[in-house]
Amino acid sequence: MKYGRVRNFYGGQFVDSQASEWLDVTSPIDGAVLSQVPMSGAGDLDAAVDAAKKAFGSWSKTTIKERSQIFFRYRSLLEEYSDELTALTTEENGKTADEARAEVDKSIELCEFACSMPQLVAGEVLEVSKGVECRVEHFPLGVVASIVPFNFPLMVPNWTVPNALVLGNTMIMKPSELVPLSCQRMAEILKEAGLPDGVFNIVNGGREIVESICDHQGIAAVSFVGSTKVAKIVYQRSTQALKRCVSLGGAKNHLFVLPDANPSMTATNVAASMTGCAGQRCMAASAMLAVGDVDPIIEQICDEARKIVPGKNLGAVISKAAKERIENYITEAERDGAKVLVDGRGATVEGKENGTYVGPTVIDYVTPDMSVAREEIFGPVISIIRTSTLDDAIKIENENPYGNAAAVFTQSGGLARYVMEHASAGMIGVNIGVPVPREPFPFGGWNESRFGANDITGKSSIEFWTKLKKTTTKWNPESRTNWMS
Ligand code: NAD
Repeated sequence: MKYGRVRNFYGGQFVDSQASEWLDVTSPIDGAVLSQVPMSGAGDLDAAVDAAKKAFGSWSKTTIKERSQIFFRYRSLLEEYSDELTALTTEENGKTADEARAEVDKSIELCEFACSMPQLVAGEVLEVSKGVECRVEHFPLGVVASIVPFNFPLMVPNWTVPNALVLGNTMIMKPSELVPLSCQRMAEILKEAGLPDGVFNIVNGGREIVESICDHQGIAAVSFVGSTKVAKIVYQRSTQALKRCVSLGGAKNHLFVLPDANPSMTATNVAASMTGCAGQRCMAASAMLAVGDVDPIIEQICDEARKIVPGKNLGAVISKAAKERIENYITEAERDGAKVLVDGRGATVEGKENGTYVGPTVIDYVTPDMSVAREEIFGPVISIIRTSTLDDAIKIENENPYGNAAAVFTQSGGLARYVMEHASAGMIGVNIGVPVPREPFPFGGWNESRFGANDITGKSSIEFWTKLKKTTTKWNPESRTNWMS
């Protein structure tokens, strides 16, 4: 085991979990066991919440300018440790080094947004009648929780940590049990940046700890990122316990390819979107709506896909079970009459035979009723559904229960606008395959890709992580103004 056993972190210290069950943490690259992670229980959570509660008193009383200073230092440390974090993320998640570095860079950008918080949360004040002033200020919620998935071990935690903490909350983080090592390192870096003990805490585990977080009376708000099945459970359970919750779920992102699209630009975008992070992105292209005759573009997409090689510029998928699931989807589509143009099944990488790789896969003549058209595959696979009109394509996209992202490839501004208006997704791309809104714009989908009122990042997160205090002041008691008093 390259790393020691994963420990929980609270009160500024790494602490052994009381768990009786431990799972292996395995590198998808070669199957090596890296560490073991505890399936912590309610007792571990209680201790972490106590530490976070204790820290909240003093942390929430520091000024936001002081709090943001710590995150300026954290940002510099992320930069300083970029190589190390890139290597660790690659090792535990299986993505390529370039993708892992992009994850570090994005974490830095997220942190920069949090550092600008003092400029964004200055309250509002207005003299509403003579001598009477109304004032609105943001206050932190208390102890909050963040539950994260496996596909971005460093970036997704940084969607929530810098914003929630700069805004004065203290936090319990629940990493994915598949990739707990980057979060552990994050705790050390935050401590080195000067974050006071108890402000950031980690409890490792799985279902049991997530349920305990939803139920815990000491936790005021829960943010969740993961599959739709679990997002629903977390949203229902934590709101049932009267908590604030934003819960991001899975995705089935549709790309509309119109006959006037630029072929080479479209092909490189589609291939990159479907294969980036081995297709394990909630923004990945998963279904392509081929409107009219786009055969030459499909040919180029296949050419581009063939240039993407497992172990070189394509990472591994997270586990043997994921590889099996993805390959089964392809086999089922083929059995149901679809045509596999580029086949990634059975991919292996020399010297890494225990790695879990799936090659790029392009499936044509998929019909909307097939499982590859309806369900999230979460692998480097694109399903091409052919339609004769744009409205037919829009209908297929609209009928899918998810709604994270959609993108259109065309040279026509009018048609692009039409798709922007009619696609049922929270994030839209025009001639861009992965339309992630960058700070200060918020990230979040529609429909079954997100439950709760807020997006998770950007300005929308300020509303989620704070409550407003409205103060009305009357400074001239002698005035004759008798406004509702
Ligand atoms: P997952 O839902 O299996 O796990 C997410 C978290 O929930 C983990 O911390 C896990 O320990 C916990 N969990 C798992 N099963 C649980 C259960 N039954 N009860 C309570 N908690 C449980 O998701 P994953 O496989 O880690 O991540 C992939 C999924 O996340 C994909 O569906 C992907 O689309 C989605 N995702 C969405 C976004 C977004 O912004 N919408 C971003 C990243 C990932």
